[in-house]
Amino acid sequence: MKDIFRVAIDGPSGAGKSTIAKAVASGLNIDYIDTGAMYRAIGYKAGREGVAPEEGAALEEMLARTEIDFAGGRIYLDGADVESFIRTPEVSMLASQYSALPSVREKLVELQRDMASRKSVIMDGRDIGTNVLKDAEYKIYLTASAGERAERRCRELEEKGTPQNYEDVLRDIEQRDHNDMTRKLNPLRKADDAIEVDTTGMSIQEVIDRVIDIVYKN
Ligand code: C5P
Repeated sequence: MKDIFRVAIDGPSGAGKSTIAKAVASGLNIDYIDTGAMYRAIGYKAGREGVAPEEGAALEEMLARTEIDFAGGRIYLDGADVESFIRTPEVSMLASQYSALPSVREKLVELQRDMASRKSVIMDGRDIGTNVLKDAEYKIYLTASAGERAERRCRELEEKGTPQNYEDVLRDIEQRDHNDMTRKLNPLRKADDAIEVDTTGMSIQEVIDRVIDIVYKN
């Protein structure tokens, strides 16, 4: 392993990227950057301020006065901890919509590259291996069937005390997959040099071990 290295993890919604990335970061003693949380923070702010999901002066103006940072594993939007507001189904859909806009991606990708420029990191998202960190030392494409991803999301929401109907969760996941894979700019796809890990039927620990193994063996 090099002294400074980057691990890129991409994949569709609910594939377990953040759970795995967090655990691998702690196992390898490197920083974790959750790029989905950054798109969620933008969606959350735009929704709250009523900025339409289209390019224009209102969006530009909002982006110009938006600061995003991570501290202690939590995301800060304009200095405030918004971690507990950005994981709702509503903000998920907003994030997916606003993430298709070029000015939003431009701002966040620049920030992400800057965060990864001075230290070893593991970064998860949709376009990390294909765009943000094209030269990452390790690239993993994490996936699972839509049905299994919906089941996992339902369990998570139930544990949080905000249960949702399975059919609705599955429809949401399929809608977001469609948005993320068909958008013009940096759509979700496996980088040619990424190793695909299909987590359907695997336990969290098995996936963590597999990813750490990939880093050690390559
Ligand atoms: O990973 P997570 O589900 O938190 O991401 C929320 C949304 O942000 C995704 O549905 C996707 O539209 C967008 N996203 C993106 N590019 C990334 C990370 C997330 O477009 N690198």
